[in-house]
Amino acid sequence: MRDKILRELEKIKAEDLYREMPAMTEGAGRYVEIGGLQYLNLSSNNYLGLSGVESVREEAEKALRQYGTTSGASRIVTGNYKLYDDLERKTASYKNCERALVFNSGYAANLAVYTSLCGRETHVFSDKLNHASIIDGIRLSGAKHIRYKHNDMADLEALLEKYKDVKEKVIATDTVFSMDGDVCQLYRIVSLAEKYGAMIIIDEAHATGVFGRGRGYAHEIGLADRVDVHMGTFSKALGSFGGYVASSEVIIDYLRNKARSFIYSTSLPPAVVGASVGALKYLAKKPEIGGRLLDAAEDLRFYLSQIGFETGMSMSQIIPVVLGGNKRALLAKEFLLSKGLYVAAIRPPTVPVNTARLRLSLRLDVLDEMDRIKSAFKEMKEAGI
Ligand SMILES: *Cc1c(COP(=O)(O)O)cnc(C)c1O
Repeated sequence: MRDKILRELEKIKAEDLYREMPAMTEGAGRYVEIGGLQYLNLSSNNYLGLSGVESVREEAEKALRQYGTTSGASRIVTGNYKLYDDLERKTASYKNCERALVFNSGYAANLAVYTSLCGRETHVFSDKLNHASIIDGIRLSGAKHIRYKHNDMADLEALLEKYKDVKEKVIATDTVFSMDGDVCQLYRIVSLAEKYGAMIIIDEAHATGVFGRGRGYAHEIGLADRVDVHMGTFSKALGSFGGYVASSEVIIDYLRNKARSFIYSTSLPPAVVGASVGALKYLAKKPEIGGRLLDAAEDLRFYLSQIGFETGMSMSQIIPVVLGGNKRALLAKEFLLSKGLYVAAIRPPTVPVNTARLRLSLRLDVLDEMDRIKSAFKEMKEAGI
Protein backbone atom coordinates (compact mmCIF):
# COMPACT_ATOMS: atom_id res chain seq x y z
CA MET A 1 0.00 0.00 0.00
CA ARG A 2 2.69 2.49 1.06
CA ASP A 3 4.78 1.78 -2.07
CA LYS A 4 1.77 2.36 -4.28
CA ILE A 5 1.04 5.67 -2.58
CA LEU A 6 4.66 6.82 -2.97
CA ARG A 7 4.65 5.83 -6.66
CA GLU A 8 1.43 7.74 -7.23
CA LEU A 9 2.86 10.86 -5.53
CA GLU A 10 5.98 10.63 -7.75
CA LYS A 11 3.78 10.45 -10.81
CA ILE A 12 1.82 13.53 -9.73
CA LYS A 13 5.10 15.44 -9.27
CA ALA A 14 6.47 14.29 -12.64
CA GLU A 15 3.36 15.70 -14.35
CA ASP A 16 3.75 19.10 -12.65
CA LEU A 17 0.47 18.45 -10.86
CA TYR A 18 1.76 18.30 -7.29
CA ARG A 19 -0.35 20.52 -5.04
CA GLU A 20 1.10 22.49 -2.19
CA MET A 21 -0.54 24.77 0.28
CA PRO A 22 1.19 28.12 0.15
CA ALA A 23 2.13 29.48 3.57
CA MET A 24 -0.07 32.54 4.00
CA THR A 25 -0.56 34.89 6.88
CA GLU A 26 -3.96 36.22 5.80
CA GLY A 27 -5.35 34.49 2.74
CA ALA A 28 -8.63 36.39 2.50
CA GLY A 29 -7.18 39.88 2.86
CA ARG A 30 -6.48 42.55 0.24
CA TYR A 31 -2.82 41.58 0.46
CA VAL A 32 -1.38 38.14 1.08
CA GLU A 33 1.94 37.86 2.81
CA ILE A 34 4.25 35.08 1.70
CA GLY A 35 7.77 34.75 3.08
CA GLY A 36 7.64 38.28 4.50
CA LEU A 37 6.60 39.87 1.19
CA GLN A 38 3.20 41.37 0.38
CA TYR A 39 1.25 40.60 -2.76
CA LEU A 40 -2.03 41.97 -4.02
CA ASN A 41 -4.54 39.16 -3.53
CA LEU A 42 -6.13 38.24 -6.86
CA SER A 43 -6.99 34.70 -5.91
CA SER A 44 -9.40 34.60 -3.03
CA ASN A 45 -13.15 34.22 -3.38
CA ASN A 46 -13.70 37.04 -0.90
CA TYR A 47 -14.87 39.03 -3.94
CA LEU A 48 -16.39 41.94 -2.06
CA GLY A 49 -13.78 42.08 0.68
CA LEU A 50 -16.58 41.55 3.24
CA SER A 51 -14.38 39.52 5.58
CA GLY A 52 -12.63 42.77 6.46
CA VAL A 53 -15.76 44.92 6.87
CA GLU A 54 -16.14 46.16 10.43
CA SER A 55 -19.91 45.62 10.77
CA VAL A 56 -19.55 42.01 9.56
CA ARG A 57 -16.76 41.34 12.07
CA GLU A 58 -18.84 42.91 14.83
CA GLU A 59 -21.78 40.59 14.15
CA ALA A 60 -19.39 37.62 14.37
CA GLU A 61 -17.98 38.86 17.68
CA LYS A 62 -21.41 39.54 19.10
CA ALA A 63 -22.48 35.98 18.29
CA LEU A 64 -19.31 34.57 19.80
CA ARG A 65 -19.88 36.53 23.04
CA GLN A 66 -23.51 35.53 23.23
CA TYR A 67 -23.35 31.86 22.29
CA GLY A 68 -19.72 30.74 22.75
CA THR A 69 -17.30 29.01 20.44
CA THR A 70 -19.28 26.00 19.30
CA SER A 71 -22.84 24.97 18.63
CA GLY A 72 -22.22 21.75 20.53
CA ALA A 73 -24.34 19.40 18.44
CA SER A 74 -26.33 18.94 15.26
CA ARG A 75 -29.27 21.32 14.67
CA ILE A 76 -31.61 18.40 15.21
CA VAL A 77 -30.26 17.77 18.72
CA THR A 78 -29.21 20.90 20.65
CA GLY A 79 -27.08 22.73 18.07
CA ASN A 80 -29.83 25.20 17.20
CA TYR A 81 -29.92 28.82 18.35
CA LYS A 82 -31.93 31.88 17.48
CA LEU A 83 -29.30 33.36 15.20
CA TYR A 84 -29.84 30.46 12.81
CA ASP A 85 -33.50 31.39 12.42
CA ASP A 86 -32.48 34.99 11.70
CA LEU A 87 -30.03 33.85 9.05
CA GLU A 88 -32.51 31.49 7.39
CA ARG A 89 -35.28 34.08 7.39
CA LYS A 90 -32.94 36.68 5.90
CA THR A 91 -31.66 34.21 3.30
CA ALA A 92 -35.17 33.21 2.22
CA SER A 93 -36.23 36.82 1.85
CA TYR A 94 -33.01 37.73 0.04
CA LYS A 95 -33.61 34.91 -2.45
CA ASN A 96 -37.35 35.64 -2.57
CA CYS A 97 -38.15 32.01 -1.66
CA GLU A 98 -40.55 30.58 0.92
CA ARG A 99 -37.84 29.04 3.07
CA ALA A 100 -34.11 28.54 3.39
CA LEU A 101 -31.91 26.07 5.23
CA VAL A 102 -28.27 26.64 6.19
CA PHE A 103 -25.67 23.88 5.81
CA ASN A 104 -22.14 23.47 7.13
CA SER A 105 -20.61 24.33 3.76
CA GLY A 106 -21.61 24.71 0.15
CA TYR A 107 -20.15 21.25 -0.35
CA ALA A 108 -22.41 19.80 2.34
CA ALA A 109 -25.39 21.67 0.86
CA ASN A 110 -24.88 20.07 -2.55
CA LEU A 111 -24.49 16.62 -1.01
CA ALA A 112 -27.74 17.26 0.87
CA VAL A 113 -29.70 18.47 -2.15
CA TYR A 114 -28.83 15.65 -4.55
CA THR A 115 -28.84 12.75 -2.10
CA SER A 116 -32.20 13.86 -0.68
CA LEU A 117 -34.07 14.85 -3.82
CA CYS A 118 -32.62 12.28 -6.25
CA GLY A 119 -32.47 8.49 -6.17
CA ARG A 120 -32.13 5.51 -8.49
CA GLU A 121 -35.24 6.52 -10.45
CA THR A 122 -33.89 10.03 -11.15
CA HIS A 123 -31.95 11.12 -14.22
CA VAL A 124 -29.80 14.16 -13.47
CA PHE A 125 -28.67 16.18 -16.48
CA SER A 126 -25.55 17.99 -15.36
CA ASP A 127 -23.24 20.45 -17.15
CA LYS A 128 -19.79 18.92 -17.72
CA LEU A 129 -18.13 21.82 -15.90
CA ASN A 130 -20.32 21.70 -12.81
CA HIS A 131 -18.57 21.92 -9.46
CA ALA A 132 -17.13 18.77 -7.87
CA SER A 133 -19.63 18.96 -5.00
CA ILE A 134 -22.56 18.64 -7.46
CA ILE A 135 -20.88 15.65 -9.09
CA ASP A 136 -20.25 14.02 -5.72
CA GLY A 137 -23.85 14.67 -4.63
CA ILE A 138 -25.22 13.06 -7.79
CA ARG A 139 -22.89 10.06 -7.46
CA LEU A 140 -23.80 9.50 -3.85
CA SER A 141 -27.52 9.75 -4.65
CA GLY A 142 -27.37 6.74 -6.98
CA ALA A 143 -29.18 8.72 -9.69
CA LYS A 144 -28.33 8.23 -13.34
CA HIS A 145 -25.74 10.89 -14.08
CA ILE A 146 -26.02 12.33 -17.57
CA ARG A 147 -23.41 14.96 -18.36
CA TYR A 148 -24.09 17.40 -21.19
CA LYS A 149 -21.42 19.37 -23.00
CA HIS A 150 -20.60 22.62 -21.27
CA ASN A 151 -23.34 25.20 -21.93
CA ASP A 152 -24.40 23.23 -25.04
CA MET A 153 -28.18 23.50 -25.07
CA ALA A 154 -28.54 21.41 -28.24
CA ASP A 155 -26.75 18.57 -26.46
CA LEU A 156 -28.93 19.02 -23.35
CA GLU A 157 -32.09 18.97 -25.48
CA ALA A 158 -30.98 15.85 -27.37
CA LEU A 159 -30.38 14.06 -24.07
CA LEU A 160 -33.70 15.21 -22.60
CA GLU A 161 -35.41 13.97 -25.77
CA LYS A 162 -33.61 10.63 -25.56
CA TYR A 163 -34.84 10.12 -22.00
CA LYS A 164 -38.20 11.88 -22.38
CA ASP A 165 -40.11 8.92 -20.96
CA VAL A 166 -38.19 9.00 -17.68
CA LYS A 167 -40.49 10.42 -15.00
CA GLU A 168 -38.00 12.10 -12.66
CA LYS A 169 -35.67 14.50 -14.41
CA VAL A 170 -33.42 17.16 -12.88
CA ILE A 171 -31.27 19.74 -14.64
CA ALA A 172 -28.29 20.79 -12.52
CA THR A 173 -26.03 23.74 -13.27
CA ASP A 174 -23.66 26.26 -11.77
CA THR A 175 -24.85 29.75 -12.71
CA VAL A 176 -21.31 31.20 -12.79
CA PHE A 177 -18.72 28.52 -13.60
CA SER A 178 -15.81 28.53 -11.21
CA MET A 179 -12.87 27.99 -13.55
CA ASP A 180 -14.08 29.91 -16.62
CA GLY A 181 -16.18 32.66 -15.10
CA ASP A 182 -18.82 32.19 -17.79
CA VAL A 183 -22.55 31.91 -17.04
CA CYS A 184 -25.14 29.21 -17.73
CA GLN A 185 -27.81 29.62 -20.39
CA LEU A 186 -30.60 29.93 -17.89
CA TYR A 187 -33.29 31.14 -20.35
CA ARG A 188 -32.83 28.00 -22.44
CA ILE A 189 -32.58 25.75 -19.41
CA VAL A 190 -35.87 27.10 -18.05
CA SER A 191 -37.68 26.56 -21.35
CA LEU A 192 -36.22 23.06 -21.78
CA ALA A 193 -37.14 22.16 -18.20
CA GLU A 194 -40.70 23.28 -18.81
CA LYS A 195 -40.91 21.41 -22.12
CA TYR A 196 -39.56 18.13 -20.70
CA GLY A 197 -40.93 18.36 -17.17
CA ALA A 198 -37.60 18.60 -15.35
CA MET A 199 -36.78 20.19 -12.00
CA ILE A 200 -34.04 22.87 -12.03
CA ILE A 201 -31.35 23.06 -9.33
CA ILE A 202 -28.85 25.91 -9.59
CA ASP A 203 -25.59 26.51 -7.75
CA GLU A 204 -25.04 30.23 -7.20
CA ALA A 205 -21.75 29.90 -5.26
CA HIS A 206 -19.88 32.49 -7.35
CA ALA A 207 -22.90 34.64 -8.23
CA THR A 208 -24.28 35.22 -4.72
CA GLY A 209 -23.42 38.71 -3.52
CA VAL A 210 -22.26 39.76 -6.98
CA PHE A 211 -24.99 39.37 -9.60
CA GLY A 212 -28.60 40.55 -9.33
CA ARG A 213 -27.90 43.21 -6.67
CA GLY A 214 -26.39 40.45 -4.59
CA ARG A 215 -29.23 37.98 -4.97
CA GLY A 216 -27.63 35.88 -7.66
CA TYR A 217 -27.62 35.33 -11.39
CA ALA A 218 -31.20 33.99 -11.61
CA HIS A 219 -32.38 37.28 -10.11
CA GLU A 220 -30.11 39.26 -12.43
CA ILE A 221 -31.97 37.95 -15.47
CA GLY A 222 -35.41 37.79 -13.86
CA LEU A 223 -35.78 34.01 -13.79
CA ALA A 224 -35.49 33.30 -10.08
CA ASP A 225 -39.08 32.16 -9.67
CA ARG A 226 -38.73 29.65 -12.53
CA VAL A 227 -35.97 27.77 -10.68
CA ASP A 228 -36.96 25.05 -8.18
CA VAL A 229 -33.92 24.94 -5.90
CA HIS A 230 -31.39 27.73 -5.31
CA MET A 231 -28.17 26.66 -3.66
CA GLY A 232 -25.25 28.89 -2.73
CA THR A 233 -22.59 29.60 -0.17
CA PHE A 234 -21.72 32.25 2.40
CA SER A 235 -18.04 31.41 1.96
CA LYS A 236 -17.30 33.42 -1.17
CA ALA A 237 -18.53 36.95 -1.86
CA LEU A 238 -20.32 36.99 1.51
CA GLY A 239 -16.99 36.68 3.30
CA SER A 240 -18.19 34.13 5.84
CA PHE A 241 -18.70 30.36 5.75
CA GLY A 242 -21.49 27.83 5.30
CA GLY A 243 -23.89 26.87 2.51
CA TYR A 244 -27.58 27.52 1.96
CA VAL A 245 -30.50 26.14 0.03
CA ALA A 246 -33.52 28.35 -0.68
CA SER A 247 -36.67 26.85 -2.10
CA SER A 248 -40.32 26.03 -1.34
CA GLU A 249 -41.51 25.20 2.15
CA VAL A 250 -42.03 21.55 1.18
CA ILE A 251 -38.55 21.04 -0.23
CA ILE A 252 -36.84 22.68 2.73
CA ASP A 253 -38.91 20.61 5.13
CA TYR A 254 -37.92 17.49 3.22
CA LEU A 255 -34.19 18.36 3.24
CA ARG A 256 -34.28 18.94 6.98
CA ASN A 257 -35.70 15.47 7.44
CA LYS A 258 -33.62 13.58 4.89
CA ALA A 259 -30.24 15.22 4.36
CA ARG A 260 -27.54 13.21 6.10
CA SER A 261 -24.91 15.95 5.76
CA PHE A 262 -27.34 18.15 7.70
CA ILE A 263 -28.53 15.68 10.32
CA TYR A 264 -25.24 13.95 11.16
CA SER A 265 -22.89 16.89 11.54
CA THR A 266 -22.40 19.47 14.27
CA SER A 267 -23.96 22.77 13.19
CA LEU A 268 -21.91 25.86 12.42
CA PRO A 269 -20.24 27.79 15.24
CA PRO A 270 -22.08 30.99 16.26
CA ALA A 271 -19.37 33.38 15.08
CA VAL A 272 -19.75 32.04 11.55
CA VAL A 273 -23.53 32.34 11.55
CA GLY A 274 -23.15 35.87 12.97
CA ALA A 275 -20.77 36.84 10.17
CA SER A 276 -23.25 35.58 7.57
CA VAL A 277 -26.06 37.62 9.17
CA GLY A 278 -23.72 40.62 9.16
CA ALA A 279 -22.88 40.12 5.48
CA LEU A 280 -26.56 39.98 4.47
CA LYS A 281 -27.30 43.12 6.49
CA TYR A 282 -24.38 44.89 4.85
CA LEU A 283 -25.49 43.91 1.35
CA ALA A 284 -29.04 45.01 2.04
CA LYS A 285 -27.60 48.50 2.59
CA LYS A 286 -25.20 48.37 -0.37
CA PRO A 287 -26.76 46.11 -2.99
CA GLU A 288 -24.96 47.88 -5.83
CA ILE A 289 -21.39 46.83 -4.93
CA GLY A 290 -21.55 43.55 -6.88
CA GLY A 291 -22.48 45.46 -10.03
CA ARG A 292 -19.53 47.77 -9.50
CA LEU A 293 -17.21 44.76 -9.34
CA LEU A 294 -18.72 43.32 -12.53
CA ASP A 295 -18.18 46.59 -14.42
CA ALA A 296 -14.52 46.66 -13.38
CA ALA A 297 -14.12 43.00 -14.42
CA GLU A 298 -15.52 43.78 -17.85
CA ASP A 299 -13.03 46.60 -18.25
CA LEU A 300 -10.12 44.34 -17.24
CA ARG A 301 -11.21 41.51 -19.56
CA PHE A 302 -11.41 43.94 -22.45
CA TYR A 303 -7.89 45.19 -21.70
CA LEU A 304 -6.43 41.69 -21.40
CA SER A 305 -7.91 40.57 -24.70
CA GLN A 306 -6.68 43.74 -26.40
CA ILE A 307 -3.11 43.00 -25.39
CA GLY A 308 -3.46 39.44 -26.68
CA PHE A 309 -4.53 37.24 -23.77
CA GLU A 310 -7.25 34.63 -24.04
CA THR A 311 -9.95 35.16 -21.42
CA GLY A 312 -12.51 32.73 -22.84
CA MET A 313 -16.20 33.37 -22.29
CA SER A 314 -15.92 34.99 -18.87
CA MET A 315 -18.81 37.27 -17.97
CA SER A 316 -17.95 37.67 -14.30
CA GLN A 317 -15.36 38.66 -11.72
CA ILE A 318 -13.60 35.33 -12.38
CA ILE A 319 -11.22 35.92 -15.27
CA PRO A 320 -9.32 32.96 -16.69
CA VAL A 321 -6.14 33.75 -18.61
CA VAL A 322 -5.73 30.54 -20.58
CA LEU A 323 -2.09 29.72 -21.29
CA GLY A 324 -2.07 26.03 -22.30
CA GLY A 325 0.78 24.03 -20.79
CA ASN A 326 1.30 23.51 -17.07
CA LYS A 327 4.83 24.94 -17.15
CA ARG A 328 3.74 28.13 -18.88
CA ALA A 329 1.02 28.69 -16.29
CA LEU A 330 3.56 28.28 -13.48
CA LEU A 331 5.99 30.68 -15.22
CA ALA A 332 3.21 33.24 -15.55
CA LYS A 333 2.37 32.90 -11.87
CA GLU A 334 6.05 33.46 -10.97
CA PHE A 335 6.25 36.49 -13.26
CA LEU A 336 3.22 38.12 -11.65
CA LEU A 337 4.60 37.36 -8.19
CA SER A 338 7.72 39.30 -9.18
CA LYS A 339 5.37 42.24 -9.90
CA GLY A 340 3.66 41.93 -6.54
CA LEU A 341 0.49 40.18 -7.71
CA TYR A 342 -0.77 36.86 -6.38
CA VAL A 343 -2.76 35.06 -9.08
CA ALA A 344 -3.39 31.31 -8.81
CA ALA A 345 -2.27 28.93 -11.56
CA ILE A 346 -4.89 26.26 -12.21
CA ARG A 347 -3.85 23.00 -13.82
CA PRO A 348 -5.43 19.70 -14.81
CA PRO A 349 -7.29 17.78 -13.56
CA THR A 350 -9.12 20.86 -12.22
CA VAL A 351 -9.29 22.12 -15.83
CA PRO A 352 -8.95 20.12 -19.10
CA VAL A 353 -5.46 19.09 -20.30
CA ASN A 354 -3.67 21.87 -22.25
CA THR A 355 -5.87 24.60 -20.80
CA ALA A 356 -3.74 25.39 -17.75
CA ARG A 357 -4.41 28.97 -16.81
CA LEU A 358 -4.17 31.80 -14.41
CA ARG A 359 -7.43 32.30 -12.59
CA LEU A 360 -7.73 35.90 -11.64
CA SER A 361 -10.47 36.71 -9.13
CA LEU A 362 -11.08 40.40 -9.16
CA ARG A 363 -12.26 41.90 -5.90
CA LEU A 364 -13.88 45.15 -4.95
CA ASP A 365 -11.15 46.27 -2.56
CA VAL A 366 -8.34 46.12 -5.15
CA LEU A 367 -9.95 48.29 -7.82
CA ASP A 368 -7.73 51.23 -6.90
CA GLU A 369 -4.78 49.08 -8.09
CA MET A 370 -6.20 48.44 -11.54
CA ASP A 371 -3.38 50.29 -13.35
CA ARG A 372 -0.76 48.18 -11.60
CA ILE A 373 -2.64 44.99 -12.50
CA LYS A 374 -2.91 45.98 -16.15
CA SER A 375 0.73 46.97 -16.52
CA ALA A 376 1.94 43.70 -14.93
CA PHE A 377 0.04 41.72 -17.56
CA LYS A 378 1.37 43.98 -20.31
CA GLU A 379 4.94 43.37 -19.16
CA MET A 380 4.24 39.65 -18.98
CA LYS A 381 3.13 39.72 -22.61
CA GLU A 382 6.25 41.67 -23.56
CA ALA A 383 8.37 39.09 -21.71
CA GLY A 384 6.94 36.47 -24.07
CA ILE A 385 4.86 34.50 -21.58
C1 LIG B 1 -17.00 26.74 -3.71
C2 LIG B 1 -18.15 26.06 -4.36
C3 LIG B 1 -18.95 25.17 -3.65
C4 LIG B 1 -18.62 24.75 -2.26
O1 LIG B 1 -18.85 25.77 -1.35
P1 LIG B 1 -18.06 25.77 0.06
O2 LIG B 1 -18.91 26.64 0.90
O3 LIG B 1 -16.72 26.31 -0.20
O4 LIG B 1 -18.02 24.34 0.53
C5 LIG B 1 -20.04 24.64 -4.29
N1 LIG B 1 -20.32 24.95 -5.57
C6 LIG B 1 -19.55 25.78 -6.29
C7 LIG B 1 -19.91 26.10 -7.70
C8 LIG B 1 -18.45 26.36 -5.70
O5 LIG B 1 -17.67 27.18 -6.42
